[in-house]
This record gives sequence, structure tokens and C-alpha cells, in this order.
Amino acid sequence: MDAPYAIVEQLEPGIARVLAHNPSAFTFYGTQTYVLGDRELAVIDPGPDLPEHLDALEQAIAGRSVMAILCTHTHRDHSPAARPLAERTGASVIGCAPLSLEAVGPRADASFDGDYLPDRVLGDGEVLEIDGEALQAVATPGHTSNHLCYAWRGALFSGDHVMGWSTTVVVPPDGDMAAYIQSLEKLRGRHDRIYYPAHGDPVTNPQQYVRHLIGHRMQREKQILKMVREKPRPIAEIVGNAYPGLDPRLVTAAGGSVLAHLLDLQRRGLVESRGEEWIAA
Ligand SMILES: [Zn+2]
Repeated sequence: MDAPYAIVEQLEPGIARVLAHNPSAFTFYGTQTYVLGDRELAVIDPGPDLPEHLDALEQAIAGRSVMAILCTHTHRDHSPAARPLAERTGASVIGCAPLSLEAVGPRADASFDGDYLPDRVLGDGEVLEIDGEALQAVATPGHTSNHLCYAWRGALFSGDHVMGWSTTVVVPPDGDMAAYIQSLEKLRGRHDRIYYPAHGDPVTNPQQYVRHLIGHRMQREKQILKMVREKPRPIAEIVGNAYPGLDPRLVTAAGGSVLAHLLDLQRRGLVESRGEEWIAA
């Protein structure tokens, strides 16, 4: 694929990007790692543990000191390079929490990086100083329960919460649609000038884009509720109707997102599950 793998792209003063070579139906061209700062750096979403990608990151860092390696969440396309990069640079791994395996049952599936172990976890609103300016963690659960965005110099590094190429996959049990929409609402209350997502182009009209994403989820919810009110339906049938012409590689993820909507509707007392089928409550 013709994409700038292992090349350091300077997006604006103090913000560089390196694309990792892990293209897929879920990652677009791959994971985009950001290098922030001029003298004291931070690295956001180091990505998959690929030697070629780590070499390119080292080139972007160019011997300067790295204050923090930050992950937005712990999917395998985001965090596995954190520890190897920490070993190469002497930096600490700071940011999102490891995924907690709660009593309700295992929340993690194969897409999770079970080896992620941060030196320090940041809570919502916590601040680190990077190159003399505040970098702030913005808790944005939904895509995963541990997802953080990071705000710095008016830019928001949005991870997989808001992406520049596709809507975000929200798959239960760790993915939560109500939390996801609430986290979109949270961004509406902010005034970031640009989003730099982990996948896809920068978002240069954040407010308008987030409004559009919320509208899209509301539309989808309405559509699912209407279908279930017509007659009892299994998830596969809802996916078939709601996503005509869907890439077969994305059917499972779409089923996850439909389930996330149904669980949210169930919590609000609007639908119920009966065996394989979902019915109106
Ligand atoms: Zn990702």
C-alpha cells in the first residue's frame, strides 16, 4: 500500500507523526504515532511492536529526552511498543490504565494487549508538563473502558475515540455505547482546534464532526429500535438490514456495535432479549 510507513512527518511545529505498518480493516493504513515537543518530548500511541516502526520513532526523537510514552488505550495496535520504546529511550510509560478484569467476567478479548503495564496511570483531567506546556488526560470511555484522549497546545490526540476515516467500533463487554456517546458529548464541551486521531486524517472541524458522530449514533439507535419493534429479530438480521453491502471482514464488529446499542436500550427499558432474539419491551 502506498502510505508513508516509517517516515517522520512534521504536521506542525512540535507535532510529528509516524505511521506504523499494520494496515487492516480496523486500522486503515495503520496506527499513527505522534511525537510532541521540541526539547522534552512525549510519544502518543507508540503502536505495534515492529522494529522498523521503533527505528522510525527513534529517528523522530533524534536523541532528545522523552518525558512520557502515552497510550490512549490498550488494544494491540496501540500499546505493545510502549515497553520496547521505554527501554530504548529511558522514558516512563504514563497514561491509560491497564484493562481491569472485573467480577462481571473477562472484559478483554484477543485484541487487548495483556502485557501493558504503565509506570503511572493518569486520571481524568490530570496534567503532565511536556515542553513547558500542560498535556491533559481527557477520560473518554466507550471504545474501551480505559480510553484516554490527550490535549496539548489546543490539539486533541483522539486515539480511537474519534477517528478520521471511519466510525469507532464499540464492542461489549468492554465497549459501552452509552459511555461512548457521553464521551462524544464531553468533547462537544471542549474547544480543541484540531483532532489528531490514531487512524485517518486530522479532523480540522472538531465541533461539527463530533455533532455529526453523535447524530449518526442516534440515527442508528432509532433504526435498531424500529426494527425490533416491528418484530423479534436476532442480531445477525439487524446487521444485515442496518449495514447493507458491509465488508464481510467487518460483520463481527458491526454485530458488536448493534449489541452495544441493544444493551444500552435494554438498560433504558426499551428492549429485552429472548433467546437469540431481541424484542420490544
Ligand atoms: Zn486502533
